[in-house]
Amino acid sequence: MSDFSQRAPSSSIVARNLNKWYGTTQVLHDVSLTIPQGERVVVCGPSGSGKSTLVRCFNGLEPYQSGSLVVQGRDLSTHKCVEAVRHEVGMVFQQFNLFPHLTVLENCMLAPVWSNKESASVAEERAMELLRRVRIGDHARKFPGQLSGGQQQRVAIARALCMQPKVMLFDEPTSALDPEMVSEVLDVMIGLADTGMTMICVTHEMGFARAVADRVIFMADGRIQESATPSEFFEHPQTERARQFLGQIL
Ligand code: ADP
Ligand code: MG
Repeated sequence: MSDFSQRAPSSSIVARNLNKWYGTTQVLHDVSLTIPQGERVVVCGPSGSGKSTLVRCFNGLEPYQSGSLVVQGRDLSTHKCVEAVRHEVGMVFQQFNLFPHLTVLENCMLAPVWSNKESASVAEERAMELLRRVRIGDHARKFPGQLSGGQQQRVAIARALCMQPKVMLFDEPTSALDPEMVSEVLDVMIGLADTGMTMICVTHEMGFARAVADRVIFMADGRIQESATPSEFFEHPQTERARQFLGQIL
């Protein structure tokens, strides 16, 4: 007899009427969104529209005040689930946030060993495998400051993957990079998309959106204004806000 509770939930993220305020300023307005397992979603929209806030809610980095949010079958309204969700959701930020005093390899082993209580040898083996996957294997014993921005961001992706997440969140991962380093990071993200990982990427890299996204979500003023396939969104944006936005970035 199958144990229903052991099955992976069919939806990775289910948000219902999510509302969030910073003080008296409301920054998310009734955000409702269902992301199935394995979906690749690109979130775009003008600065200040709530994109970072929304993805930070998805891994419990930001509390919300009303509505519901279930990530990998866990309801984020309970504190116990927030801890569990962080183990299942990897996040990569615009600033790579690597620990400068630890080597690349140590950065990748830290959370598996200290948070997941893995043995150092198991953690190291997986870290090296993932560092090779992002083509940083040869730099594993270096410190972050000895690497380029693009290489550091690839380390940050490998480090997140070392926790074997079910979902990966990216918040403008290429925005802080010199232009010539953008594609090496996008290539790693495209490779990850090919593995079937659920991915939510805040990015204005529209070539990436066209290449890998199942869906583009356009946000403005703390609301989801449009949710469409890349070709629908780029060729037939429904709102004036989206048309303006696309006019500025394309
Ligand atoms: P985006 O990522 O789309 O640029 P954010 O989610 O960062 O937007 O911000 C949404 C709104 O929330 C903005 O008006 C921003 O100024 C505000 N905001 C973001 N973080 C904070 C914070 N920690 N405290 C107060 N206001 C914030
Ligand atoms: Mg942001």
